Amino acid sequence: MNRRKFLQLSAVGTGAVMAGIEPLRAEAPAASVRPATTVAMPISIVPLAKNDLDTMFADMRERAGVNALFPFMYSHEPHRAGVPPSETFHGGNYARPHMQYYKDTPLTFEDMRGTEFGDVDMLERIIPVARKHGIRVFCFLLEDNTLPATVPNWQSLYEVDHHGRRTKGHPGGPCFNNPAYKNFTLGLVEDYARSYDIGGIMWGSERQSGFLNTLSISQSGGQDPGGTTCFCEFCQNKGHGLGIDVERARAGYDEAEKFLRAGRAGEKPRDGYFATFWRLLMQYPEVLAWENLWVTSRHAFQADIYRRIKSANPALQVGFHVWQNVSFSPFQRAEENLTDLAGCADFIRPALYNNVAGGRFINFVKGAHSAVLGDLSPASASDVLLHQLGYDEVAYDRLAATGFSAGYVERETRRSVESVAGHPAQIWPGVDIDVPVGRGQGHCTPESVASAVKAAFAGGAKGIILSRNYTEMKPENLSGAGKALRELGVI
Ligand SMILES: [Zn+2]
Repeated sequence: MNRRKFLQLSAVGTGAVMAGIEPLRAEAPAASVRPATTVAMPISIVPLAKNDLDTMFADMRERAGVNALFPFMYSHEPHRAGVPPSETFHGGNYARPHMQYYKDTPLTFEDMRGTEFGDVDMLERIIPVARKHGIRVFCFLLEDNTLPATVPNWQSLYEVDHHGRRTKGHPGGPCFNNPAYKNFTLGLVEDYARSYDIGGIMWGSERQSGFLNTLSISQSGGQDPGGTTCFCEFCQNKGHGLGIDVERARAGYDEAEKFLRAGRAGEKPRDGYFATFWRLLMQYPEVLAWENLWVTSRHAFQADIYRRIKSANPALQVGFHVWQNVSFSPFQRAEENLTDLAGCADFIRPALYNNVAGGRFINFVKGAHSAVLGDLSPASASDVLLHQLGYDEVAYDRLAATGFSAGYVERETRRSVESVAGHPAQIWPGVDIDVPVGRGQGHCTPESVASAVKAAFAGGAKGIILSRNYTEMKPENLSGAGKALRELGVI
C-alpha cells in the first residue's frame, strides 16, 4: 500500500521557531499498516538519461531490494551529473523549472535548467518506470562545492569572507541568510513537491562553520585560512540584531588566520598550540557568537525547507544529509547536534562510509595537527580523537589500509538515534559501498558491506541509504548489502 494513502496532515502550524514545526508532520500510520523499510539508492543523472531504466531498476531491486531512488536532481557539478569535468559544463535542474515558484531570486530559467541531456524532464522520465518496480523517487539536493562558473547570477548568492571577498566555493558556499538563496531553495523544493509524484526530498550541505575552517579542523584540511565566512551584509545585519560586535568577530578571525599560518610555517607558539587556541577564544568570544550565528542560520534554513515542503505536500518525507566530517570532529559534533534537527526532519542520513573513513580521518588529523592539535604527534592526536569520539579503531598507521570498522557504523548510528529520541525522525545511515579511496587504501568486499549494513540496523537504523552512488558500486558488493538485508528480514 502506498504510504501517502494513509498519511494525513494533522494540522498546519504557524510557529516561526523550531518548536512550532511538529504540528506540520504527517501523522504516523496505523499500527496495523507498517510501511516497508526504506532502502535508498543515490544516483547521478547519466545512467538515468542513457541506460535502459527497466533493466537498471530491476537490477537494484534484485540485488538489494532498493525501494527509493535518490537522484542528484539539481547540481552544477559535473561529477553529480556523472560526466567528466569541463569548463563549459552548465548543469542545474534536470527536471523542468516551473517559474511560478521562483520569486525574488536573480536566477533565470536558463540559469537553472540543466541542458546536458537535452530537453528531457528527468523526473517525468524516471518516475513512471520506477513506480513499476516499486521504487519511489526522492530528489537529492546536495549543495554544490563550487560556484558555477557558467552561471554568473549565482555569485551574489555566495558568502563573503572576513576580508570582505566574495567566496567561490568550498569551504564557502551560498549564504543561508541571503534572501535570494533562500528564495531559490524554497522555490525549488516547492516546485518538486507540487509538480511531481515524488516520495520526498533530501537536502544536504557539506560545510561547517568558518572558525573550524580557519583552523583547518576538517577532513578537507589544507584550505585557505583567509576564507572564513560569512560577513555578507545579511549576516552582518543579523549579527547586529543579535547584539554581536561584528568588528570584534572579524578581528578574532584575523588572529585565528595568523595562528594557523604560523602553525603551517612550523612556528611553535611559546605556550603551546592548545593554550594559544584557548586564549584566542577568551580574547575574542565574539568569534564563538559568530560561529553560533552561522550554525543556527543553517538549522533555520533547514527548518524553512521542511516547512515549505510540508506546506506543499504533507505526505512527502523530508530528510537531511549530514556530512561525514561530523563523525570525525568533536568540534563539528558539538555544532551539528541532531537534536536541533529532530523536530524538522522525517529522516536524517549521517554519512557513515566506514571503508573510506580511514583515509578521510587521516586527512582530518593532519589538518587539525597544523594548529589546535599541534602539541601532539599525528598518531597521538588520532588516539585522543578516537577516544573523544568513542570509537574503537586501529592505530593511526594502519587506518588507511583497514578503514574504519563496522563498529563505527553501529556506534554513530546509535548516537544519532539517541539524538532524535522522542521525535518521529528516523535515522537512515549512509553505508559505504565502494566510495572511491586513495592509493594504498583498502577496498570494500561483499562481506565488509554486509557487516556495515548489519551494524547500521544493530545501532537502531530505521532505513538505509546505500552510498554514495549506484555508478560507483561493484555489483557483487551491492549484492553483499542485499544479502545482509535479507538475513535481517528487511527485504
Ligand atoms: Zn552571509
